[in-house]
Amino acid sequence: MDIDDKTWNPWHGCHKCSEGCQNCYAYFLDKRYGRDTNEVVKNKSNFNFPVKKDRTGQYKLESGSFVRVCMTSDFFLEEADEWRKEAWDYIRQRPDVTFSLLTKRAQRIRECLPDDWANGWDNVTFSVSCENQKRLDERIPYLLELPSKHKWVSLKPFIGEIDMEKYLATGQIESVLAGGENYLGSRPLHYEWVKKVHDACVKYNVQLIFGQTGNIFIKDGKEYKIHNRTEQMVQALRSGLHYPPRDIEAEIEAIYARKAAMKEIIENKKNKTKDKPHC
Ligand code: SF4
Repeated sequence: MDIDDKTWNPWHGCHKCSEGCQNCYAYFLDKRYGRDTNEVVKNKSNFNFPVKKDRTGQYKLESGSFVRVCMTSDFFLEEADEWRKEAWDYIRQRPDVTFSLLTKRAQRIRECLPDDWANGWDNVTFSVSCENQKRLDERIPYLLELPSKHKWVSLKPFIGEIDMEKYLATGQIESVLAGGENYLGSRPLHYEWVKKVHDACVKYNVQLIFGQTGNIFIKDGKEYKIHNRTEQMVQALRSGLHYPPRDIEAEIEAIYARKAAMKEIIENKKNKTKDKPHC
């Protein structure tokens, strides 16, 4: 997954269900806007995001996109049962797009699959989120017994030491994503925890994407406070814990170039607003 990934939130809101939910992004956002995150609502304006078309009749969502689904909710929430069939329909209509369905509710996936699921769809990845050993042991067995073409494990927020060798040894897990915690009350991520997962991924030849360190990263007993998101990504790259290894310097250069481009876009927008006449 990278910076070009798209996000589709067909519904918004969720209920905290485990330790990893403590500093949930959706709750953080809603607090700012005075919304109740426990109230799960359908996203009326963007529910059909995968199949929206422009004036010429072309899909707005480009072919080949990677879409992260439910970043402010959970795809397998009970409240979404009545909307999910329609969401599956949109996913079915876009075999040219990859959908990553993120969930902490692995025990519900099987009962929520569409009738024509069979052995899974090529364009769907289940990404089961596990924050520590307890939740990994609880959720991964559900993932492993599912018929699915693509199975990922997301260690975000990574808040406790994890031994996942026996799960990687099954050969079913394609990719592991790791990242530290952000927002108020963040818990630290230890370099050694990521290294342990990295070594297991190397042993079983499973991709590891260490996306960012989070606010507090501990290495060699020293605590690093890293509040800037760009720096979190850069430090994660510099740790050398991706697998397969990546061209670190080229990626860092690309990260800074994108940041500069974003800054320029924001500045231009601000300037345009300033130039507008006040009437
Ligand atoms: S499952 Fe995800 S979206 Fe729901 S409360 Fe937990 S962290 Fe937030």
